[in-house]
Amino acid sequence: MLRVPAAFEPPGKPPRPAGRFALRFWSVKHSAAVEAFYERFERLLVRLAPAAARVGLDRLERPAAFVERQVKGALFDCRMCGQCILSSTGMSCPMNCPKNLRNGPCGGVRANGNCEVYAEMPCVWVKAWEGAVEMQNGMDIRGVQPAIDHRLKGRSTWLGVMRKVLPAPAPAEKPPAGKPAAAKPPVGPGA
Ligand code: SF4
Repeated sequence: MLRVPAAFEPPGKPPRPAGRFALRFWSVKHSAAVEAFYERFERLLVRLAPAAARVGLDRLERPAAFVERQVKGALFDCRMCGQCILSSTGMSCPMNCPKNLRNGPCGGVRANGNCEVYAEMPCVWVKAWEGAVEMQNGMDIRGVQPAIDHRLKGRSTWLGVMRKVLPAPAPAEKPPAGKPAAAKPPVGPGA
């Protein structure tokens, strides 16, 4: 039976049903069309950003992440890492690699192009290259990706696109002299 890795899922979550697998490969096979769609979609997100800001991006986080999880989960087996790099990975989600590698394959790819850990599964990065060569900006795959920020896990990258184009929020007021500022929890970068 074809098994799907779950390294990026919470421990104990069962692997996805094997049938969910096929659509992710369809997305890679049609990476050029998906890329063209995504470019238009991103422009739409940018146009909608001011309206979303009026509603409040934090307030929209849960519903947006829910919709994103459903749509991208179906199309890419998205694991909601919160920092999407599909356009740089041939539309093959790197979080489906059991080692969560975001900068190319490990040294264990089998001779038939399958994964070292899950022998039945084509290597995520072999598929990524197949998808990338079909895409207009596919050679972005050669770029180096930063280490993953786990604080963004589960957050919507669609809202992250909006956050990037919106002006930064005004800095908080300084506390009166003599009073120390309250400690704030760290906040991750935009998706
Ligand atoms: S790179 Fe992250 S956000 Fe993009 S499809 Fe994969 S898990 Fe989802």
